[in-house]
Amino acid sequence: MKNRKLLMIPGPIEFTPAVLRAIGMPTTSHVAANFIDVFGQALEDLRKVFLSPSGQPFILAGSGTLAMDMAAANLVEPGDVALVVNTGYFSDRFATMLERYGAKVTKVGAGEVGGAPTLQEVEAVLQSMKPKLMTITHVDTSTGVATNVKELAALGRKHGALVIVDGVCAIGGEVMRQDDWGIDVVLTASQKAIGVPPGLALLVAGPKAMEKFKNRKSPVSNFYADWHEWLPIMQAYELRKPSYFGTPAVNLVWALHVSLQEILREGMEARFTRHTRLGTSFKAAVKALGLKQVPLRPELYAATLSAIYYPVGVDASMLKQVDEAGVLVAGGLHPAIKTKYFRVGHMGAVTEADILSTVGAVETGLKKSGYRFEVGSGIAAAQKTLSN
Ligand code: PMP
Repeated sequence: MKNRKLLMIPGPIEFTPAVLRAIGMPTTSHVAANFIDVFGQALEDLRKVFLSPSGQPFILAGSGTLAMDMAAANLVEPGDVALVVNTGYFSDRFATMLERYGAKVTKVGAGEVGGAPTLQEVEAVLQSMKPKLMTITHVDTSTGVATNVKELAALGRKHGALVIVDGVCAIGGEVMRQDDWGIDVVLTASQKAIGVPPGLALLVAGPKAMEKFKNRKSPVSNFYADWHEWLPIMQAYELRKPSYFGTPAVNLVWALHVSLQEILREGMEARFTRHTRLGTSFKAAVKALGLKQVPLRPELYAATLSAIYYPVGVDASMLKQVDEAGVLVAGGLHPAIKTKYFRVGHMGAVTEADILSTVGAVETGLKKSGYRFEVGSGIAAAQKTLSN
């Protein structure tokens, strides 16, 4: 038997053989000419993946939380008013971080878990508070809720707020057009739809964000994340020149270079379409099995992940049965509903076969947990959607 499970959690995900080979390569110097070239190319490619020709990319060793921290540390000055569009656990995390750097934060809440504030609700707060910054979680991994980033960002800009998007569970899967949508900062981590093992914080900052950073009156109160240190490093790598502030994660950057090239070979539009198609087929299976999703309305469904309530009589012990059927899915994360639902990531190098295997394993888990349904109905619904 194969000694491995299909990894279908919302990050880390399954990685391609070429990416994994880069991780296993003999490590070279961070100032070797071939590595400088690879780092420089990765920075250039990041702009293309974020669809942000005008952006300044940053690649740092660290997780997605560091990417959020980098945005907060460099862009917040004490006393700045900030608005957080709150769709779950990771929006709350951003609010806590902004407060740590001295921002006065207002959250526009989702109401119920699985909801998202309306554009009108967000605009009303923008109008009354005139915030300097606004954060949006593109896909909140705790709820599977995808926000209408394009429209929300347009409102933020209209009211003069710098728009920061947490795209950790989105970039490389959900549609994101950073420049066209006028988004000032988009950030992510390597281990999700970007397709590289955990360990890189990735961020692209637009001209308005860099201007706010350059005009700061107060020092950046985070040593590691300070752009005063990292901006010259990123610029040097793009100019193919050696430089040093903190040692880059050489093998991960190499793997990132490989993955970004794979993503661009697929093409961003094709990649967005594939994620929508595979996400839709998985959700069709969920519906056919009679299960309810955490997002309250279909327009809030993410393409990269599904969050699904256990049916009556089934609990988290079902996940062990799914695991034994060969697929790893994730338990709940949002504190209010943690034990009541599970999560399935379908992003990055995910294929039709992965979707069908996962639906099959979920059916096995449900059956062994005593849930009554027509075995095969989920697979049939997913297949039907895929063959359309
Ligand atoms: N934001 C979102 C939307 C996430 O999904 C995650 C990770 N699940 C993070 C931020 C934090 O990223 P990391 O775990 O890599 O620090």
